[in-house]
Amino acid sequence: MSIIIAIDGHSSCGKSTFAKAIAEKLGYTFIDTGAMYRAVALYALRHRLINADGSVKRAELAAALPNIDIELVRGASGADGSVFLNGKDVTEEIRLGKVSDCVSHVSELASVRERLVAQQRAMAQNKGVVMDGRDVGTVVFPHAELKIFMTASLEIRAQRRYLELVRKGVKTSPGEVEKNIRKRDAIDENREVSPLRRAPDAVLLDNSRMSVAEQVEWALKLIPPTLL
Ligand code: C5P
Repeated sequence: MSIIIAIDGHSSCGKSTFAKAIAEKLGYTFIDTGAMYRAVALYALRHRLINADGSVKRAELAAALPNIDIELVRGASGADGSVFLNGKDVTEEIRLGKVSDCVSHVSELASVRERLVAQQRAMAQNKGVVMDGRDVGTVVFPHAELKIFMTASLEIRAQRRYLELVRKGVKTSPGEVEKNIRKRDAIDENREVSPLRRAPDAVLLDNSRMSVAEQVEWALKLIPPTLL
């Protein structure tokens, strides 16, 4: 029997790395919902729907939603998947600072969330998925069989994210990265629609001092063998 594993938590605490590793171990599909919000933010940037102060042209973006097609394409075993926006590969572009800077404002829109949540539910119709994001255990799948809420200290998150961006060749500084993480967490936790919250039945994972292998070992112990 396959289950749904919902992983939520703060920005840059390694949710995707962890989720990908569990999916790999179980032969499940990994779904990065943050990549979907990032693709919408990229569309908004390209169509000048973000104002100079970072706010969103809400009515225009809501009206444009039927023109936004997002597809997550699974990578080969062990390889990262790809993100397509209206048929074009945007996997790298959605990680740029300009997207990180406006994505949390785009994610505040109820119309954006409704559309993406519907797509996320459809993608998990047959279960056997590990989905990570901010509202997976609270809104997308309130009945997920396993919910994990992740966090880590701000310093460690900023350091990890900075190194990841540097590895990808993105020009940034540790201070800039920390500022962005702080800002996104604040917006995500305080927005009106689907704020970032730990579901009451989510198990807490602070991975500040854990390797990915240790995290996976910890998580697998939480799944009763009869559910796998
Ligand atoms: O996971 P990642 O950091 O790439 O997500 C980018 C942004 O997308 C988050 O800061 C948050 O504003 C938004 N997001 C969301 N709900 C999700 C996943 C991501 O609001 N389920």
